[in-house]
Amino acid sequence: MIAEVIVEVLNSEVDKVFDYLIPKDEKRDITGFRVLVPFGRRNVEGFVVGIKDRTEFDQSKLKEISQIFGEQAILPEMIELASFMQRKYNLKMVDCLRLFIPAQMRGEGDRYKRTTEYVLAEDYLTKLEKIGKNAKKQLEIVNFLKEKGAISLKSGFSASSIKRLKELGIIEEKREIALRKPMEDVELLQSNSRKLTSEQALALKKIGESGTFLIHGVTGSGKTEVYMQIISREIKRGKSAIMLVPEISLTPQALSQFKSRFGETVAILHSGLSLGERYDEWNRLLCGQAKIALGARSAIFAPLKNIGAIIIDEEHDGSYISESNPRYNTFDIAKFRASYNNCSLILGSATPSVETYYKVETGEINLIELPTRVNKRPLPKIEIVDMLGEIRAGNTTVFSRRLISKLEECFNNKKQAILFLNRRGYTSFMMCRECGYVAKCGDCDVSLVYHKSEEKLVCHYCGKKYKALTACPECGSTHIRQGAVGTENVVMQFQKLFPNVPVFRMDNDTTRTKGAHQKILSSFGKAKPAVLVGTQMVAKGHDFEDVTLVGIIDADQGLYQSHYKSPERTFALITQVAGRAGRSQFEGSVVLQTYSPKKYVYSFAANYDYKGFYKREINLRKATKFPPFSTILRVMFSGENEELVKTQTKQCYDQILEIRKDYPQDFIYLDAMKSPISRIKQKFRYQILMRIKQENVENITQMVYNACDNARRREVLCFVEINPQSIS
Ligand code: ADP
Ligand code: ZN
Ligand code: ZN
Repeated sequence: MIAEVIVEVLNSEVDKVFDYLIPKDEKRDITGFRVLVPFGRRNVEGFVVGIKDRTEFDQSKLKEISQIFGEQAILPEMIELASFMQRKYNLKMVDCLRLFIPAQMRGEGDRYKRTTEYVLAEDYLTKLEKIGKNAKKQLEIVNFLKEKGAISLKSGFSASSIKRLKELGIIEEKREIALRKPMEDVELLQSNSRKLTSEQALALKKIGESGTFLIHGVTGSGKTEVYMQIISREIKRGKSAIMLVPEISLTPQALSQFKSRFGETVAILHSGLSLGERYDEWNRLLCGQAKIALGARSAIFAPLKNIGAIIIDEEHDGSYISESNPRYNTFDIAKFRASYNNCSLILGSATPSVETYYKVETGEINLIELPTRVNKRPLPKIEIVDMLGEIRAGNTTVFSRRLISKLEECFNNKKQAILFLNRRGYTSFMMCRECGYVAKCGDCDVSLVYHKSEEKLVCHYCGKKYKALTACPECGSTHIRQGAVGTENVVMQFQKLFPNVPVFRMDNDTTRTKGAHQKILSSFGKAKPAVLVGTQMVAKGHDFEDVTLVGIIDADQGLYQSHYKSPERTFALITQVAGRAGRSQFEGSVVLQTYSPKKYVYSFAANYDYKGFYKREINLRKATKFPPFSTILRVMFSGENEELVKTQTKQCYDQILEIRKDYPQDFIYLDAMKSPISRIKQKFRYQILMRIKQENVENITQMVYNACDNARRREVLCFVEINPQSIS
């Protein structure tokens, strides 16, 4: 028999299936197994992706597999998935396969952690007389074992006595697999399922055993309870389930909710786990010991068979799109797996993405609505404050007078507030007022952000740090203008206004270390009154009873990124962060600060009018032919040698022009240019942008892939993004 093997040769363009002979004595079906095969002059690792009787090559020249590791590592479904991804995204098969198995699986042997225990040998009775009369310690151990069964070296008995007993053959060593369990120390919450509200019950009833569903539910409408009951229904039917949440919402709170309800049947997969923990959790899923995979984006690749439901919470979240190799959209993968397993796919959100909601209109997705909060409380009232008015009135702080008075009221009631600003650091840039010099990173084409606590200018793209400016390096002027404020600045201004109120900051700078995120949240949770200042980390997932006020410091911030999704993202963020207020019995309110209070997105957001917003947005997209009425393709090129990057861009662009000649009606837009951020980490960046009509997009995409592959050269990285999250 012959095995088709994908070999793991790092950093090479080899992405072919090679044929190898299966050793004669191997009787198993080894599809999905990891193997070691001779490749050139060395042995390399690979995956068996298929088995066949015959080869198109000269069989006598085929080499034999050198070694077959352990057990099946990849399910047949995943092999099909890899080739689906290879076609859809122009990826290397081996890069896809690597996504499916933890890094620790690579290399020889298993990577379980083991513990050593000692137990009585079966025939120990016949050997007891060998123990010397005065060897009291040894007798003690034997008596202990008769009662308790096993001891370890850590049980407090003398190691030399254990050793002696082993030599005498009275006890035996036993090696056991000790599973590493992430989050074992979490506090368990409500474990029984709740009695559903009538809206929730209806939602549960409508979700069938297959098909795609959107649960459009306001914040606090109890979507999580519905997810958990869907999962438990599937588990009862003997099925498994995948539950995805954005990485940022994978708070210990959220995890413990699932642990409490489902115990050992849940395995957790996210980036906070150690490699060992991930390996064990993955194995528990593969062997069927765990049936629920809970995690961020990559948990969609969980090695589960017989899936009954796949759930994607906060489906609009940008983190579901992978922006580094291998690039993929989680929704596509979920759709593939749902159809392979013939199971249901459930998306949930308070602010579905426009593209998803459009699929509701076209009938591709079934809509389920949860329009009210579980506690029947109204959603917090959102007030819009015009910040230009503040400047006119002589207020130059980041806090409007309205926000200050609401903060005072909140603190007087011993309640908590959240202040949201999606920009970290102190100020966004530093610029000389005399000559216009702007401090920029030497390796990237971006301005540096001032971080006051470290007195440094920091590049947010590569992390490089520079000395803060006191005078302009070009003209020597000390008149330095600072850009827009960041979270660090908000904290300092807040402390001047409310010196006695504890303030916590949560952003990328304060959450670098493991567990920091949780520490900040739990200290904030206990402090009353208190304020939490942060970036979008504060907008999601958590549920603090005493938060009655949310301040959105600069709502406009996301609107000026020239991306067709900016209004949609702004709408979603406002809704999310507003949803943190008034979750329990205390009424909440929101102050939204903006320099353009007339923007339509604010009035829709303030009225919680998702449908109104959607209607306006979809009409705009239709008129301007943006997704979902077209697909945006971006071909990115980057490399250290600008000339080579440019040449390759040009070569590829010429080929795409040829494609357009053949299919002029399919191209809405096509152009090549320097990327808006023309250099990152010393690499020059160029791009080809196009918008393609929906009817023939798959065909055109494949042709564009070919054009890229034809123009490819080693020195320049080239890849294609479909509807990219950012075009900077
Ligand atoms: P969402 O995810 O829709 O924002 P959550 O799932 O966080 O909402 O639910 C909001 C709150 O309501 C949570 O504290 C949750 O425990 C509670 N809850 C959900 N369903 C019920 C129910 N049927 N009965 C009582 N409380 C519920
Ligand atoms: Zn200057
Ligand atoms: Zn940089």
